[in-house]
Amino acid sequence: METWQNILQKSVTTLDGLQEQLDCDITALGDVIANFPMRINPYFLNLIRSPNDPIWKQAVPDPAEMVDRVCIEDPLGEEDLSPVPNLVHKYPNRVLFLVTNKCAMYCRFCTRKRKVGTTRMHVTPATLQAGYDYLKDHPQVTDVLISGGDPLLLEDDQLEDILQNLKAVPSIEIIRIGSRVPSVLPMRVTDNLVSILKKYHPLYINTHFNHPREITPESSAACTKLADGGIPLGCQTVLLKGINDNPKTIKELMLGLLRIRVKPYYLFQADLTRGIDHFRTPTATGLDIMKHLYGHISGLAIPTFALDGPGGKGKIPLTPQFVLENNGKNLIFENYLGEVCNYPEVEYYD
Ligand SMILES: *Cc1c(COP(=O)(O)O)cnc(C)c1O
Ligand code: SF4
Repeated sequence: METWQNILQKSVTTLDGLQEQLDCDITALGDVIANFPMRINPYFLNLIRSPNDPIWKQAVPDPAEMVDRVCIEDPLGEEDLSPVPNLVHKYPNRVLFLVTNKCAMYCRFCTRKRKVGTTRMHVTPATLQAGYDYLKDHPQVTDVLISGGDPLLLEDDQLEDILQNLKAVPSIEIIRIGSRVPSVLPMRVTDNLVSILKKYHPLYINTHFNHPREITPESSAACTKLADGGIPLGCQTVLLKGINDNPKTIKELMLGLLRIRVKPYYLFQADLTRGIDHFRTPTATGLDIMKHLYGHISGLAIPTFALDGPGGKGKIPLTPQFVLENNGKNLIFENYLGEVCNYPEVEYYD
């Protein structure tokens, strides 16, 4: 069987390679990939059925990436919130720790596209050590979210070294891994990987699927393997114009995720990242999608629709309005069918 490293090695990374594989107009793409790298591995490439389909749009560079209106380089203020390189300390009790700059595919809508896969992001033994030292000095941090890039693109022994170092920090209670590997390079989820991960419980993985067509026999098998290792799986989906910005697609995706034992966690409003303006949707689109989920499908399949506040203000939930009025005596609300309902407030409360 071919190794995941071999598969990755055959990724499309150049315009000539792209033109060989897809019926794609590469004029005007030179600038795009000079700024934002391309990597389309053979597994994900094979999921493309036609030009500009939802898989294509996530992977194939587009001249629109060079056109921006209000977008900014680092919309979440991550660089300003990094006390040491590659560690973002935004919330008091949890941090984001970037442990590699590589991904199994470079998503065109990536919020960190300013640096992933480029020399603008350096992860070295020294930055990793600075991260561990910072965590030892900040015992209020109990929850470390390792991301990148994609941590599961590290070799098994490199990943295990990081997990061991984090586990050695007494104040850390939970390790979370953010990884798109289950959806874009599922063969990376090997038995050996799972046997390493399961030594570091409580360990959670938040994966990232954006379209029902990413749910394949291969990605299902990868999630099954991880879930069988006792690893709770969540999903962080990004709401993307022309890819999944309608109730039908999101509903199908969320229900499909539950079937492969992945619990939808966040549905993200796209960030203001430079190069992704063409993927943004009005917040009303996401709110309307959420209205089509609540009450209509299992509560287990419903993610929190969230906006990551520009400037590092943190994530806030965006929730459709069900409450119509509260006059102190009665809470008047609308249910999922649009019926007006009433809940009498408690009369005496001390
Ligand atoms: C998203 C994020 C977290 C984790 O937030 P949760 O809501 O707990 O999932 C932590 N740190 C940073 C910088 C983040 O962006
Ligand atoms: S896998 Fe994640 S970090 Fe990597 S390019 Fe895609 S969205 Fe960005």
